[in-house]
Amino acid sequence: MKTIDNISFKNEKALIRVDFNVPLDKTTLKVTDDTRIKAAIPTIRKVLNDGGAVVLMSHLGRPKGTRENKYSLSHTISVIEQLLGQKIKFADDCISPQAFELSSLLQPGEVLLLENLRFYPEEEKGDIEFAKKLAQHGTIYINDAFGTAHRAHASTTIVANFFPNNKKYFGYLMAKEVENLRKILQSPEKPFTAIVGGAKVSDKIKVLEALTKVADNIIIGGAMAFTFIKAKGGNIGKSLCENDHIETALHFLNQIEIKNAQSIKNIRVILPVDAVCASEFMDSPNNSVHDITDIPTDLMGLDIGPKSIQLFKDILASSKSILWNGPMGVFEFSNFETGTKEIAFTVAEITHKNNAFSVVGGGDSVAAINKYNLENQISFISTGGGAMLEFIENGTLPGIEAIESNTYQPV
Ligand code: AMP
Repeated sequence: MKTIDNISFKNEKALIRVDFNVPLDKTTLKVTDDTRIKAAIPTIRKVLNDGGAVVLMSHLGRPKGTRENKYSLSHTISVIEQLLGQKIKFADDCISPQAFELSSLLQPGEVLLLENLRFYPEEEKGDIEFAKKLAQHGTIYINDAFGTAHRAHASTTIVANFFPNNKKYFGYLMAKEVENLRKILQSPEKPFTAIVGGAKVSDKIKVLEALTKVADNIIIGGAMAFTFIKAKGGNIGKSLCENDHIETALHFLNQIEIKNAQSIKNIRVILPVDAVCASEFMDSPNNSVHDITDIPTDLMGLDIGPKSIQLFKDILASSKSILWNGPMGVFEFSNFETGTKEIAFTVAEITHKNNAFSVVGGGDSVAAINKYNLENQISFISTGGGAMLEFIENGTLPGIEAIESNTYQPV
């Protein structure tokens, strides 16, 4: 893999695409969670320690191609300085003459942060001329922003075309993501169990299809399970259901049956068997457990039930590889968090007990792992929600291809 480990950055100017898309307090505009900035520090340090200079570029929020103070990366400066232990320079526009002057005068050991790339609509459009300009800030390009690696944006993908093959690399964060996701998807130790939850079948159907190629067990939880249950003829009451994707769900289940009939390998798709139900979508203790195929018409399922939890635990108990993305229920409501909580603890327990390799990704699943302080008991926690899902679907991402393929076009 094209990592920066064996590269010397002495006298180089590294243009690093980082993910500083951090949450800011609405009134003070102060960074409220610096996890993403912290994650980029090792790559920045490596360049500085080697005797190189660093130009940082990122997006922040969704400014839709116009300049807005609430999306300015200037709000991150003090946090970066504190984490790096040194002052940094800031260019209040990423491609202005002043920005190029700052980057051209940058000395070894110095850091320059460019203003939000998305103040230009060209960034998200993957505009070639814009990318060419960005490329002029550095002599080497490093992508350390896994969270946006699924986008063919100017700074994440197109810019790499303007660096020769030996001048573009994955940063530490990005390399770890690629390495761990490849490990679980390309050479998983068996049995491999994937747990997929969340709201919509339509969002995750391609992920489920891709998983049938590698996983032995596919556990489906969350609201999306109800579309499958309805497709199989169950009564799901007023649970969330994508009626226009019932056919999609049915087709998926039929394809599995056909695959299983044709091959020696048996893929198991495991759906919940019961659900914790309530009459309204609210965090109320007034709930009852029902068979998932027999939910009364005036109730909706908001979490998986105790029998489903046990069923899923039994499957996980013998697993050697586990991939988890998406909550089992409305875990934001304390009355309906049990399913997600039990899965989080089980994944952690099996990782330790079976010496299994576990990967958790997606905002909600990662939030659950953090909420129960299980971060250190999971083999790898992915920082990219959408990027991880697209990696599962396609086995690669535009941002990865851009580093690994030789597409050099001299500026
Ligand atoms: P996603 O973004 O597709 O991963 O979906 C996550 C969202 O699905 C979370 O906000 C959950 O509250 C929601 N969710 C999970 N299970 C259910 C359910 N049974 N009914 C309604 N929403 C659910």
